[in-house]
Amino acid sequence: MTDYLVKALAYGGFVRAYAVDATETVAEMQRRHDTWNTASAALGRTMIGALMLGATLKGDDKLTVKINGNGPAGGIIVDSNGKGDVKGYIKNPHLSLPLNEVGKIDVRGAVGNEGMFTVIKDLGLKEPFSGQTPIVSGEIGEDFTYYLAVSEQTPSAVGVSVLVDTDDSIKTAGGFMIQIMPGANDEVIDQIEEQLKETARISSLLDQGQTPEEILQGLLGTNDIEFLEKMPVRFKCDCSKEKFGAAIISLGPDEIQAMIDEDHGAEAVCAFCNNKYEYSEADLMELKREAMGEK
Ligand SMILES: [Zn+2]
Repeated sequence: MTDYLVKALAYGGFVRAYAVDATETVAEMQRRHDTWNTASAALGRTMIGALMLGATLKGDDKLTVKINGNGPAGGIIVDSNGKGDVKGYIKNPHLSLPLNEVGKIDVRGAVGNEGMFTVIKDLGLKEPFSGQTPIVSGEIGEDFTYYLAVSEQTPSAVGVSVLVDTDDSIKTAGGFMIQIMPGANDEVIDQIEEQLKETARISSLLDQGQTPEEILQGLLGTNDIEFLEKMPVRFKCDCSKEKFGAAIISLGPDEIQAMIDEDHGAEAVCAFCNNKYEYSEADLMELKREAMGEK
């Protein structure tokens, strides 16, 4: 089953809801970055949140979520877009902390409880939109919720979770985002809040075989849901040998000559997907010619 996200409306359009099964997406991240369980949960949760924020954008629009906390995970950077593509990395992928006091992966311990949560949106305008809020939890779901409330003035509930197996592989990963539109009455909000308290983690519901549609029905406490769209999601990086080549060209001819003389080649590694690109001496000579404006 491939990963997908559903978008829906409920309560007469006063509630907008999203749910995503990102199991294979987070699993591919885990394999590419060889993340250990705490890092997998921290980066995976951020990817799930970014996918749902991305689902509010139009197709070609993009966003970046940066979490810079004071914990041992170091920085987390995730890119997503309106088409369901996501990629990301964490400064310290080899992080495995003891479980927290409730027996769960200690994401707060990894991220830290102080620092900044930043979202940058490229909406195809001259200037990107940038919003920033302090880290309020470090568990990530609450940080997305706080960001949406404060920076985007959208009262929301965001849940993101990753279930990691004992061998560090990803068992399930997914999340939900529920947004209350202006004019919604208090009863609706109360009902959803009650429902959220009683709902298990999304990764557990996915593990029980629930679909994103069923999860939303449970979360919203109603069958009166209008499903608007079902969008496939995936781990996808847009790097290429040409893109890194352009970066090498920008170093200038002297620097490229030094790479030829000293290393007889070069290797570039993409931070987002860990793909490696090799440049032979002949490749570098070609790039040097381009850097000198000969092409
Ligand atoms: Zn890449």
